[in-house]
Amino acid sequence: MTRKILVTSALPYANGAIHLGHLVEYIQTDIWVRFQKMRGHACWYVCADDTHGTPVMLRAEKEGVTPEALIERVRSEHTRDFGGFLIGFDNYHSTHAPETRAFCDLFYQRLKAAGLIKARFIEQFYDPVKAMFLPDRFIKGECPKCGAADQYGDSCEACGAAYVPTELKNPCSVVSGVRPELRASEHYFFRLSDPRCETFLRAYTRQENGVLQPEAANKMREWLGEEGEHLLADWDISRDAPYFGFGIPDAPGKFFYVWLDAPIGYMGSFQNLCHREGLDFNAFWQPGSNAELYHFIGKDILYFHALFWPAELEAAGFRTPTKIFAHGFLTVDGLKMSKSRGTFITAESYLAEGLNPEWLRYYFAGKLSASMEDIDLNLDDFVARVNADLIGKYVNIASRAAGFIVKRFGGRLLAADAELPALRAIREAAPGIAERYENREFAKAMREIMALADGANQYVDREKPWELAKIPEKEAQLHAVCSNSLNLFYQLTALLKPVLPALSARVEAFLDVAPIAWDDVQRLLPAGHGIQPYAHLMTRIDPKQIAQLVAANRESLAPAAPIAAPAATDAGKAKTEGAAKTEDAPKPDVISIDDFDRMDLRVARVVDAARVEGAEKLIRLVLDIGEEKPRQVFAGIKSAYDPAALKGRLTVMVANLAPRKMKFGLSEGMVLAASGANDVAGGIYLISPDAGATPGMRVK
Ligand SMILES: [Zn+2]
Repeated sequence: MTRKILVTSALPYANGAIHLGHLVEYIQTDIWVRFQKMRGHACWYVCADDTHGTPVMLRAEKEGVTPEALIERVRSEHTRDFGGFLIGFDNYHSTHAPETRAFCDLFYQRLKAAGLIKARFIEQFYDPVKAMFLPDRFIKGECPKCGAADQYGDSCEACGAAYVPTELKNPCSVVSGVRPELRASEHYFFRLSDPRCETFLRAYTRQENGVLQPEAANKMREWLGEEGEHLLADWDISRDAPYFGFGIPDAPGKFFYVWLDAPIGYMGSFQNLCHREGLDFNAFWQPGSNAELYHFIGKDILYFHALFWPAELEAAGFRTPTKIFAHGFLTVDGLKMSKSRGTFITAESYLAEGLNPEWLRYYFAGKLSASMEDIDLNLDDFVARVNADLIGKYVNIASRAAGFIVKRFGGRLLAADAELPALRAIREAAPGIAERYENREFAKAMREIMALADGANQYVDREKPWELAKIPEKEAQLHAVCSNSLNLFYQLTALLKPVLPALSARVEAFLDVAPIAWDDVQRLLPAGHGIQPYAHLMTRIDPKQIAQLVAANRESLAPAAPIAAPAATDAGKAKTEGAAKTEDAPKPDVISIDDFDRMDLRVARVVDAARVEGAEKLIRLVLDIGEEKPRQVFAGIKSAYDPAALKGRLTVMVANLAPRKMKFGLSEGMVLAASGANDVAGGIYLISPDAGATPGMRVK
């Protein structure tokens, strides 16, 4: 029976780059979707950029562009990165689209008609300089419990306490730095506390053979409480202007909160696909639909997907998700991804360093299960596992057999021996492996497939085609062994194809076969089938590539001011993994003393300073740091300093920064300066040591 399946991954937020932590989810979903398509099911995979909210609005403002221009640029970056990792969306849309707006209005009307929308006044912190209400993460202050300084408005990183922003001591606005004031404003709430919602959610999240994984169902039980308890609070779905989002139809100056329109964006993206492909939207979304609906998400957004979203769908007269699949977070070498360690690796940098995306797809597949446990990318294990499994066990089978077939037998195969134990083992294991894929037990599937590859290699090792090739009377045996080997390779490719789509396409070209479907694992290549000369399929990972990748992602301590050769910093990259769209401001990473010690800071005397012809911002500095030859540094300080006034003064430079070739010459370091958030309004102030310091002294 052909199943009708609609699949989504969580929508990435439009203010930051895709990194390897995000890719866990997209690779997991993509493997599952490709498996369904190989089985012949009508499976559609949609996603979109999640574009609304305060962080996008403020970032666009900071960059001096419109939010529309920002989200368009980020969407093209996301599309490029997903394409690079072979994520085969059937549609990749934006929540800032007419389809999503229309559904938002419809949900709002229907919830309102059902008596599930309520307006009431609440008091919130307001930034009087910026003239806006502040999300929790845009307020900082001292923790009300432990007194730790510089804590966000919702929780303390020092003691773990959770609180509301009004409890903070000495609160200040992250946006303008001023003390926020309390102001009242009318907000719209989705009445989740209504008995209808509660009754529905209890039944929905506790279904036998349920919608949720066991760990997630337990969480729900915690959030919903026992029968008779009423723990659910109404959900604030509105935000005040200024806000980048969809206006609430009958409420001027009020906008839908980004978390209201994000899941509705799944429907918007699918509607957009339906128009293009001529699909029937209602057949997938009406109550009683026989189509299956699956949401793949990170465990941190379970609350939104397992409580708010099904309750909204139910109340607005749509079907609810068949299942919600939550996964854990990614750690690298056992630790949280970190910029200072270089393990906060972007998708773009992975591809730019020339690493093969299918290496990562295979490695993640080898770690993924149906549970919500975190998975670890161990960089040494990554190299070892990919080289041993994909090259050593899998690709090797083809490379050892194909040459003889092409050179000695005109590229033609003999009929394979269907009863060969290694071939029979694959046929017999295939249904179980299909079940592993279906149940998202990819790690188990990979282990079983590699055990089958071991069986294939044992066959080749036993028959030794390279020795048969030396004995003229063994010609027929050589032909048979190589034909069997390539059939083994063909069937293993069928099993690995959901994980390795690009490699599989190269195998299909090399074996000269039609795109491999799942059932092909039960078939053999016919007698006389011709193959193409063996073309290179995949290279081994060189550990040096990993070292380079980590180095490329390691961020040195950036100075406060844009000095010599300013590197483009991307505040969005600081978003914590999995937090797809919380209204959080970038968090500073903590560094160790060793990280700091890696910087060689020296007292420097300005020997010479001059304007640079053709450079608007730069001054060319010649700096004495006690070395034989003074250093040349180009510094972006012209707006604040007259070169003549700099001669002779002392400052501090980073002496071990990699030299950088600029249009005007080599810049051999960087000088330190202080500045405000905005270098024009904030000014630039060169750092000087106290009197008595001399050129070359180390600053520690
Ligand atoms: Zn605290």
